[in-house]
Amino acid sequence: MNNFDKIFSLAVVGVQGLIPYKAGKPIEELERELGLTEIVKLASNENSLGPGKKAMTAIQNALSTLALYPDGSGFGLKKALAKKYELEEGQITLGNGSNEILELVARAFLTPEYEAVFSQHAFAVYPIVTQALGAKAVVVPALNYGHDLSAMLQAITDKTRLVFIANPNNPTGTLLSQKSLEGFIGALPDTCICVLDEAYFEFVSSIESVNSIDWLKKFPNLLITRTFSKAYGLAGLRVGYGLSSLQFADILNRVRQPFNNNTLALVAAEAALADDDHLQKTITLNMQGMQQLTEGFIKLGLDWVPSAGNFVLVDLKQAGQPIYEALLHKGIIVRPVGNYELPNHLRISIGTAKENAKFLKALTDTLVYV
Ligand SMILES: *Cc1c(COP(=O)(O)O)cnc(C)c1O
Repeated sequence: MNNFDKIFSLAVVGVQGLIPYKAGKPIEELERELGLTEIVKLASNENSLGPGKKAMTAIQNALSTLALYPDGSGFGLKKALAKKYELEEGQITLGNGSNEILELVARAFLTPEYEAVFSQHAFAVYPIVTQALGAKAVVVPALNYGHDLSAMLQAITDKTRLVFIANPNNPTGTLLSQKSLEGFIGALPDTCICVLDEAYFEFVSSIESVNSIDWLKKFPNLLITRTFSKAYGLAGLRVGYGLSSLQFADILNRVRQPFNNNTLALVAAEAALADDDHLQKTITLNMQGMQQLTEGFIKLGLDWVPSAGNFVLVDLKQAGQPIYEALLHKGIIVRPVGNYELPNHLRISIGTAKENAKFLKALTDTLVYV
């Protein structure tokens, strides 16, 4: 009588075809599986310096308030973000990670009648939020590992409600010029929303000027997403945000849960925003680490895709999965990217000098033996 498999056939068709997101392997899991210690994780583009002191102090100070619901309006954090970016507080949408903002925009605009456009090799969350709603995912072939904006523009029809752009893209690290992006958004029909995912904004803005916030004044169909998970070192707390027009933010606010950010996340993110010292240290470490890793790749005769993020995609010229597994046995967790149609690459997050050196040593030994 009880057919537990029947449940699957009842799910939204898009959900039945979904491949669940595969996260970087947690350190504790590898410890359990292989009994290793001193594991180095360079798999999820986290901040190897950890959270800043200001964020940690803010968390400690807020512990005694945890019996109360969080501030559902996120007043303090929104105020700090509005000041930093010279926006109105109403233009900011807070999310449980910027992943939640991606989900909110999909929920607010996609149905099975509509389509979302994104690039091959683009961030894995775009197909998930699209197909979860039964909407059609239109994948545009990449150009030199990055977004082919003219091909993407051609893929847009009157059924396209969302186009996702990751700048820089994860896992490839490719960066579009501000000029080409501005032209692209300007060329979109007014029935299509551009979700501009700037999860690595802080790393990019340390090397070139990023103008996307200025574009909010002229593009009502623009949503920018950013996060505290990467440069600010707060991935475990889940805080991200969307920046848009007031009207757009009003829509997202209707679909979000009333208390989608917890108290500790709100206070820590606000404190992190004021911790410029920690941010600068992070950016410097990233630049040095990028150089260290790419010099290591040169010695090994490996190519890589130039990256504007805190990670780098290395071309092993052989299958990545066995190398990934061999590295696991040496206590190094990196990210295989076969699920991104990149079977011969691995994505390496930039770590501390010591972590990077350990990875390079392990990679050198592994490549010799396979
Ligand atoms: C890491 C990442 C995110 C954000 O993750 P959250 O932790 O949910 O803020 C979003 N987009 C891209 C491209 C990323 O790499």
